[in-house]
Amino acid sequence: MKRKKIRIRNVDPEVFTHKGLFDEGCYGSECEDDCCVYGCDVDYESLKLIYKHRDLIEPLIKTRIEECFLTELTRDNDYVGGAYRETATRDSDGLCKLHLVGKKGCSLFYLWAARGLPKTMVPTICRVYPITWHRGRLFVDRPLKRACKARERKPKGVKEVPSIFDTQSKEVLALFDLRHPGEKTFAELRLQALKRRKA
Ligand code: SF4
Ligand code: SF4
Repeated sequence: MKRKKIRIRNVDPEVFTHKGLFDEGCYGSECEDDCCVYGCDVDYESLKLIYKHRDLIEPLIKTRIEECFLTELTRDNDYVGGAYRETATRDSDGLCKLHLVGKKGCSLFYLWAARGLPKTMVPTICRVYPITWHRGRLFVDRPLKRACKARERKPKGVKEVPSIFDTQSKEVLALFDLRHPGEKTFAELRLQALKRRKA
């Protein structure tokens, strides 16, 4: 069954103008997965897959899935599947309990990239960060961590680096729906924001 997208009605122009996760993104930066200290909200659809594949996840995070959540399931239509659970963080390193132990990277991203598990197991927020959303609005999360690639200086001699939308567009388009009759598409909004910035 086709996964339902999250409805967006308004996009903050900064999404199209702020520096993105350029070059190799998070992996090519000094950042030690700093945004994983917040934990994350796991969409119900992702949650079901996490439980389904717990046998592969638990050895990577060295804990039981039951220990990974701070909250119970909360109903909320802002999440895929109509509900979410918030993850807990580990005492040993301060990172989300779904993060790999002792190395860089998330267990869910790892299992998608290295073992071919469905990408939909990765929570929406973790696929589009540092873009985030709330009640129909898409925007850049604040404050960005100091070491975040999106705050890194442009390499010497490079005039411009891609925006957050440019580097995250594949995920944004897969997960969000900007469907409202008579309104602009993501491409048109992007053009408008870039024109305004130049003016
Ligand atoms: S699910 Fe993965 S990417 Fe998301 S906060 Fe947790 S460790 Fe980080
Ligand atoms: S803080 Fe920025 S660079 Fe670091 S993992 Fe998060 S999005 Fe990537």
